[in-house]
Amino acid sequence: MKPTISIITPVFNEHDCLPTFFKRVVPVMEEIGLPFEIIAVNDGSSDDSAEILREHCEKDPRIKAVNFARNFGQQAAFLCGLTNCSGDAAILVDADLQDPPETFAKLIDKWKEGYDVVHGVRRVRKGESFFKKFTSSLFTKVLSFTSGLDVPENSGEFKLYDRKVIDVLCALPERSRFLRIQVAWVGFKQASVEFDRDERTEGETKFTFKKMVKTAEAGIIPYSPKVLKLPLKIGIVGAILSAIAFITFIILACCGIGLELTAWLFPTIALATSIILIAHGISDLYMNYMYEDVKGRPIYIERDKINFGE
Ligand code: UDP
Ligand code: MG
Repeated sequence: MKPTISIITPVFNEHDCLPTFFKRVVPVMEEIGLPFEIIAVNDGSSDDSAEILREHCEKDPRIKAVNFARNFGQQAAFLCGLTNCSGDAAILVDADLQDPPETFAKLIDKWKEGYDVVHGVRRVRKGESFFKKFTSSLFTKVLSFTSGLDVPENSGEFKLYDRKVIDVLCALPERSRFLRIQVAWVGFKQASVEFDRDERTEGETKFTFKKMVKTAEAGIIPYSPKVLKLPLKIGIVGAILSAIAFITFIILACCGIGLELTAWLFPTIALATSIILIAHGISDLYMNYMYEDVKGRPIYIERDKINFGE
């Protein structure tokens, strides 16, 4: 029997992109000739994305939709797609078609060669600002450093996962989800396929600056003890420097050179206080993620599902 491919896409206010998405993805998958399903996870859109999805589901039973109870984020939407998919392999792709569906065939070919994870690696990124490209490239480098894992550069969530990997990823117990790091951690046989990233077909980016900062935090803190150890390192350096200063003051005093110590008082106290606050703040960040895990609430809530045979 031929293997089945699941295409998973997160949807947040994609009124403008959705019709073009299905218009391009369906023929591409038909051309590939393997049985497929398309799972669109509506991440609490406030526009009419849910209605557009329903219409497409009614016309084509291969198109399936899950509607979230509210906006839980792109990572939660991808996880929901992976949890609900029935394919032997799944391709994760954004709804704005920046990652061209015409690349699917290349991902599937690599998978057929025996790779369990195939990363879509961007050769060029059309229509993205210098700020977006710079922060995105810096972010990947920081992720690799903090997690100590090999997170491929110029690669986002556009990837193919084999069923073995899907099952492992879905079974991970942590609540904080960051697929790019989790897949680097689980291992398996991984390969890359290059492609040219297009401009968004319609509409604006859904990643506001606030969401970008939140994503960066979610990628770094739960997957690295490095930041947690930082205050200790700063503290040790600070302690050594103050010990040297203290000894110098004593030697100078013994040599009869008086120092105006009060002049040093304000900056010293300010520095010490800031270091303590930073240390506290970093522990709080970790505590927050632990708190979320301890609460054990679901990562997302499904409001309803269409075409899953219920
Ligand atoms: N997205 C989502 N939830 C969000 C934000 C974005 O599901 O809270 C989806 C969005 O609809 C798109 C994908 O995630 O399918 C990537 O978003 P976008 O293209 O805006 O990000 P960018 O490419 O600018 O990083
Ligand atoms: Mg995009």
